[in-house]
Amino acid sequence: MPETLLTIDLAAIQANYATLRANAHGREVAGVVKADAYGLGADQVAPALWRAGCRTFFTAKLGEARKLRAILPKAVIHVLEGVTPEETKAFIEADIIPVLGQPGELGHWRAAAKAAGRRLKAGIQLETGLSRLGFTRADLLTLPQGWTEDIELSLVMSHLACADEPEHPQNARQLESFKALSALLPEARRSLANSSGVFLDPAFAFDLVRPGAALYGINPTPGRPNPMRPVVTIKAPVLRVQHLDAPALVGYGATRELAKGAKIATIGVGYADGLIRSASNAAKASIGGRVVPIVGRISMDLTMLDVSGLEDEEVKVGTIVELFGRAFDLDAVATAAGTIGYELLTRLGQRFHRVYLGQDSA
Ligand SMILES: *Cc1c(COP(=O)(O)O)cnc(C)c1O
Repeated sequence: MPETLLTIDLAAIQANYATLRANAHGREVAGVVKADAYGLGADQVAPALWRAGCRTFFTAKLGEARKLRAILPKAVIHVLEGVTPEETKAFIEADIIPVLGQPGELGHWRAAAKAAGRRLKAGIQLETGLSRLGFTRADLLTLPQGWTEDIELSLVMSHLACADEPEHPQNARQLESFKALSALLPEARRSLANSSGVFLDPAFAFDLVRPGAALYGINPTPGRPNPMRPVVTIKAPVLRVQHLDAPALVGYGATRELAKGAKIATIGVGYADGLIRSASNAAKASIGGRVVPIVGRISMDLTMLDVSGLEDEEVKVGTIVELFGRAFDLDAVATAAGTIGYELLTRLGQRFHRVYLGQDSA
């Protein structure tokens, strides 16, 4: 029996990096590899991005950044969640740049600089409309005297709340706020755009763009054709085919009934693998390019498909079912499940046999 296979196409990630670069108005394109490169394996993804020319990386947490440093000794690495007093030593040792999100962090990063006897690099995040992390106008107006003697400001950044909705008025509001707030800081490179932000007006590009999702194949322009190449495919063999000689209920909770004459295929992929339960009775898979709906509730390890439309020769034990594939992509599964591709990727389970394609691509 073939295994349940998760294929990650590193050459597609590199092609997506090139596409983002071609759309970034000549500005630098960083790679966001937080959450283990959105679940795809930072140890494989980050070197592939490096080979594609990416030199600046962002993680969310120090632990992720330290692993990255071990793989990419020369990369510029930022941690988006900033730095705690306990972490300053590890940041300095691994040459990692914190993106400071509040004045208190500036205080202990300065103390670390004084203790180290040299200026330390830092990014500063500005609060422009997410109410998440970031210095407010009041914070900037009350910055302590002389802080630039200890800190070299290497990046000023903020993050868009609605970049995937180009017409949303929040985009223009955040752009104006970002310009006004960054004017209160010393000259430094500036960054505002995530994946979707790359496809907004060039005014959003500034010096550096920070895509994550688009690298991994998620459509940064929802509602329009996806400019990115698909990266992830899940393939699982059919474990069993059942022909109904009477109507039958399917799955936990008996949420679906199929009529006499229907045909059900069971696959060994469930919510423990990241096929989240809200995709029950909603998402679809594909068998040889034919779309087959998921029926009944997805269970931890197993999912049932209505394959009534397929001939017996087309669906047997061992026939390969594709999820997150060409016929029904990640974004389509996410929409059917009431979520976003980001969540599906970062929930991919550990049980798949993982195969990386394009490992030796330039
Ligand atoms: C996650 C994240 C990104 C990348 O966003 P995508 O939408 O995945 O491109 C960029 N900047 C910040 C601050 C983030 O948290």
